[in-house]
Amino acid sequence: MSYTILHSTTTSSHHHRPSKPPLTMERAVLLRSITSRAAPACIRSFSRSSHRLSSIRHRLIPNFHRRSPLGHDFRRHISTALPSLVQFNSRFSHIFPKAIATSPQFSPDAVGGYDEAADKLGFEKVSEQFIEECKSTTILYRHKKTGCEVMSVLNDDENKVFGVVFRTPPKDSTGIPHILEHSVLCGSRKYPLKEPFVELLKGSLHTFLNAFTYPDRTCYPVASTNTKDFYNLVDVYLDAVFFPKCVEDIQTFQQEGWHYELNDPSEEITYKGVVFNEMKGVYSQPDNILGRTSQQAVFPDNAYGVDSGGDPQVIPALTFEEFKDFHRKYYHPSNARIWFYGDDDANERLRILSEYLDMFEASPARLESKIETQKLFSKPVRVVEKYPAAEGGDLKKNHMVCLNWLLSDEPLDLETELALGFLDHLLLGTPASPLRKILLESGLGDAIVGGGIEDELLQPQFSIGLKGVSDENIQKVEALIMTTLENLANEGFNMEAVEASMNTIEFSLRENNTGSFPRGLALMLRAVGKWIYDLDPFEPLKYQEPLAALKAGIEKEGSKAVFAPLIEKYILNNTHRVTIEMQPDPEKASKDEAVERENLDRVKQSMTEEDLAELTRLTHELKLKQETPDPPEALKSVPSLSLQDIPKKPIQIPIEVGDINGVKVLQHDLFTNDVLYSEIVFDMSSLKQELLPLVPLFCQSLLEMGTKDLDFVQLNQLIGRKTGGISVFPFTSSKRGSDTPISHIIVRGKAMSARTEDLFHLINCILQDVQFTDQRRFKQFVSQSKARMENRLRGSGHGIAAARMDAKLNSAGWIGEQMGGISYLEFLKDLEEKVEHDWSGISASLEEIRKSLLSKNGCLVNLTSDGKNLKNSEKHVGKFLDLLPTTSSVASASWNTRIPSINEAIVIPTQVNYVGKAANLYETGYQLKGSAYVISKHISNTWLWDRVRVSGGAYGGFCDFDTHSGVFSFLSYRDPNLLKTLDIYDGTSDFLRQMEMDDDTPTKAIIGTIGDVDSYQLPDAKGYSSLLRYLLGITEEERQVRREEILSTRLSDFQDFANAIDAIKDKGVVVAVASPDDTDAANKERPNFFQVKKAL
Ligand SMILES: [Zn+2]
Repeated sequence: MSYTILHSTTTSSHHHRPSKPPLTMERAVLLRSITSRAAPACIRSFSRSSHRLSSIRHRLIPNFHRRSPLGHDFRRHISTALPSLVQFNSRFSHIFPKAIATSPQFSPDAVGGYDEAADKLGFEKVSEQFIEECKSTTILYRHKKTGCEVMSVLNDDENKVFGVVFRTPPKDSTGIPHILEHSVLCGSRKYPLKEPFVELLKGSLHTFLNAFTYPDRTCYPVASTNTKDFYNLVDVYLDAVFFPKCVEDIQTFQQEGWHYELNDPSEEITYKGVVFNEMKGVYSQPDNILGRTSQQAVFPDNAYGVDSGGDPQVIPALTFEEFKDFHRKYYHPSNARIWFYGDDDANERLRILSEYLDMFEASPARLESKIETQKLFSKPVRVVEKYPAAEGGDLKKNHMVCLNWLLSDEPLDLETELALGFLDHLLLGTPASPLRKILLESGLGDAIVGGGIEDELLQPQFSIGLKGVSDENIQKVEALIMTTLENLANEGFNMEAVEASMNTIEFSLRENNTGSFPRGLALMLRAVGKWIYDLDPFEPLKYQEPLAALKAGIEKEGSKAVFAPLIEKYILNNTHRVTIEMQPDPEKASKDEAVERENLDRVKQSMTEEDLAELTRLTHELKLKQETPDPPEALKSVPSLSLQDIPKKPIQIPIEVGDINGVKVLQHDLFTNDVLYSEIVFDMSSLKQELLPLVPLFCQSLLEMGTKDLDFVQLNQLIGRKTGGISVFPFTSSKRGSDTPISHIIVRGKAMSARTEDLFHLINCILQDVQFTDQRRFKQFVSQSKARMENRLRGSGHGIAAARMDAKLNSAGWIGEQMGGISYLEFLKDLEEKVEHDWSGISASLEEIRKSLLSKNGCLVNLTSDGKNLKNSEKHVGKFLDLLPTTSSVASASWNTRIPSINEAIVIPTQVNYVGKAANLYETGYQLKGSAYVISKHISNTWLWDRVRVSGGAYGGFCDFDTHSGVFSFLSYRDPNLLKTLDIYDGTSDFLRQMEMDDDTPTKAIIGTIGDVDSYQLPDAKGYSSLLRYLLGITEEERQVRREEILSTRLSDFQDFANAIDAIKDKGVVVAVASPDDTDAANKERPNFFQVKKAL
C-alpha cells in the first residue's frame, strides 16, 4: 500500500536506457516481466519495493499472470513514463482500496431505481452514484435473468476499460484457474482460431490487454481509446470466457496445462506445458517460495491454502474432466462481475452484454464460489522450508525469516482499514521509516522481505522479515521486529514522519498517476477487491471522507492515540502469527529434478510398445497442430480496424526550447492538475570509466545519506512533506548515427505548483549538500543492491542475458551492463569487502563523481505543467541554476569498450532457462526503416510465439530491436529448452522468406505497431518522452517518416529483412542464463559452445 511513497524515496539504481526501459515505459505494466528486458534493472532501488512487486505476483496474488510478451523498443522509447512509477501504479490501487471496507451486509437490493432502457435490455438498475473522487457517474446493474452484476462507470476518460471477473477458488494445487485463464483465450465459438488473444495483440490499438489469476479470482481486462477497437476487444473477450473451445479440445488443455511429450519411442518422456514451465520458473525463485509458503501457512483452511497457479509437482495430477467441470461451474454469468469505464455510451454497453448473458439461465455458482474465512489461530505457528540454492555459496548466511499476521477474521470498518494502510506507510513506506530502517541497519540481513500490509484477499495480513540472514541470527531478527513494534506502540511516531506520510498519500491521490496502467483499470481492481466478496463496490472508490476523518483524528488526539492501539491489537497481541524460516538447500533443485525424472521413467515403464507408439503419434499430432497456421477464414473472424482508421500523423507533444541563465530549458504545456514535473539532466560523459559501476550507488547516496544539517531521515521526511517525490538515476543509450553513447544522470522531481520553490531547493540540497560520509549506510546499500541483483538473475534472467549481449555489441550496452548486469553483480561482491578496508577511497570516488557531473555545462532542464505554472517556475529554476558550479568542459572520457564477443552460459540453480542470441544489424550494413518495427513485432507474435512458447513450452519468446544501437536480440523466458531454442531463432530468416500472406497480415501487424507507437500516456510521461527524443536527436520529421514507413510496410519488406536477420544466425552471439544440467548437456552436444560462468 505504501507505494506512493516509494516514489518519493526512490533512490537511484535505475539503469535507464530507452531500449531497456523501466517497467512503466510499456503500456501494459503488468504484462511485462517478459518483455522489458532490462526492466528489473531499472526498477527500484530499494529492496522492499522489489519484494513487494514479487509479492504482488506470487504471494498476494501468487499467480498474477503476465500474459503477453510484447517487446517493442520504439514503443517503449516513446511511451516512457516515470521510472519509479511502477510501484506507484501497482500500489496505487491498493492505497485506498483497503481503506474501504464496507459493511458485510451490503445488499444490492437496498437501493435502486427504474431505468427504462436498461430494463428493456434485461437489466435492473440497483444503484446510481456520482463519485466525486473520480468525477464519474457510476451505475450498478443486475442482469435479471442470471444475476450477473455490472458496474457502468461514465466519465470523459477516452482510455476506456472493460473487465470481466469470476470468483474461482481452487480446491487443490493443480493450477486449474491458471490453466483455464490461459486456455479460454485459445479460440472460441465466434473466433475459432488458435489464439484470438494473439491476433488482438498483433492487430489492435489496445492500451491494455491481459488476464490475471489471483488466489481466488480470475480477471480479464482490456482497454482502448478507440471506441470501435474497444468493442472489438470486448466481444472477443466475452466470447472467450463464455464459449471457449478449450472445454471441447483436450489439445489446448495439454498445450497450456501439461502433457507427456515423447518425440521418439527410444527417447525419454518429458512434461511439457506453458503453465507447467511458467510455474517451474516461479518455484525456482526463493522470494516466491517464501511468499507462497507464507500465504499457505497463514490460510491453512481455505482456498488460499493451495496454489491457484499450480505446483509443478501437482499439475500433472489434473485431468481434462476436472478442468472442464471447473469452467462449467464458475465461468457463468451468475458468478461474474463485469466492469465498463470511460466515455462510451452506457446503453451500448448493456446491449453488448445482453447478447451474451441472455443465453444463460441462473446458476448457483455464486453460492458455490464463496470464499470461506480463515479462523484465527489461538497460538503462533512456525514453518521451516527449503529453497534451491547454488552450491558453494555462503549457505550459512542465506537464510530468510519472515513474520506474518492474519489481522482479522471479519471485514474491518472503513476507518480502521485506512488507518492500517497509513500505519503501514509509517512503518515501512520509505527508507526513513523506522521498522524498515532499524531492520536494515541492524546488519542482521541484506534486504527486507514481506510486503507490510496486504489486503487484496478476503482478510488483511501484515508481513515483514529479512533475507540474507545467518542461521544463528534468525531469532535475533524475530526479536528485533517485535521490540521495534513494541517501542513504536509505546513511543509513537514523530510529527514530521506523520506529516510526510500524509502529504505523500494526498499527493498521489490528487495526481492520480497510474503510469501506463489505465486509470479505469486501477479503479476496477480497487472496486473488485471488495465487490468480489459481495461487499459494496462503490465504497472503495470514495476516499475523501475517511481520509478527512483520519486526519482530524490525528490532529485531535495525536498520532500515538490513533496508531498505538492498532499495533497492539492487530500485531503485538494477535496470536495468529506465522513465522517462516527459509533454508538454502544446494541439493533441492537436483532432488526435484530427480523426483520428476523418476515419475516420468515410471510412466514410461508402465507403457506398452503400442502405448509408446501412440504417445509419439500424439506428440507429433499436437506439434503439427501448433505449427499449422490458422486458415484465412478463421483469421478473418477476429474483428480488426482498417488502415483508414489509423491517424496519419504521430501524436504531437508540445515543446518549447528556451534558455534560462545559459542553460537549455524544455517546456511542455500540458494540463497536469496543478502538478509540476521536472527533470534535471546532467552529462555523465566525462566520468572516469572505472567509476561507472559506482553510479547507481552514488544516486542512492544522494537521496539516502543526509547533509551536514539534516540526517537522512530528516531529509527524507522533508521531501515527503514538501514534494510528490524525487528520484535520481542514470540514463544511457546509443544514439543513431553516432559512435559515442549518450549518458546522463537524471534527477526527477514533482510537486504541487505552489511548492515549486521547495522542490528546487530540495533538489539543490541533494545534489550539493549531501555528504558521502556514512560508511554503515553505504554498506547496506551494497548488500541491498547485491540481493536485488541476485533476485533479478533468478527471476528475470532474460534481462541479464540481454544486457550481457548488449555489452558485447555496443558501448552503451557495455555501460549499462557495468551498472546493472553480471559485471555489476561482480563489482558489488568485491565492493562489499572494499567498504570495510577502504571506505575513504570509496567516499572520495563518490565525491569525484559529483564533481565531474555537477555543472551548468551539459545541464538541461525539462518542465511539464500548464502554461501558468511553467511561467511561474522559471524564477525558481533560474535560482537553482545560479547555484550550480560552472566548470570548464572536461574532455569526454573514452568508453568505447565492449565485452569479448564469446558465447556464454551464466549458470544458476534453476529449473528453467533464459536463452538469448543477438547481433548488431547496423554493423552488418542494415539501415533503419519503419518496417523493422512492424516485422519484429510480427516475428515475436507469430514465429517465436508459436515455436518457443506454444510448441517449445517456454513461458515466452520474443525479439527486440534497439533502433538506437542496432542490436537485434532474440530472447526466451522460463524456457525448458536451450539449444533447441537457438535453432528456432536461426530459422527466423527462412520463416520470413517463406512467408505467404494475404493483405490482412501486414495490415494487422501495422495496426498493432501503431498501437504501440501511439500508446496512451499521462502528461508526465509525455513530457518525459519528449525529453528523451530531444536527447536522442529524434525530430518530428523523422517521426513522420518512420510512421509513413510503418504504414506502407509490404510483404517484400519482410523478405528483405530476412537478409538482415541472417547476420544473427551466422555471426550472432549467444548468452543464456541456464541450469547446470542443461549447460552441461549443451556443451556435450556442441563441444565448447558455451564459456561457463557461475553466477550465484
Ligand atoms: Zn500464466
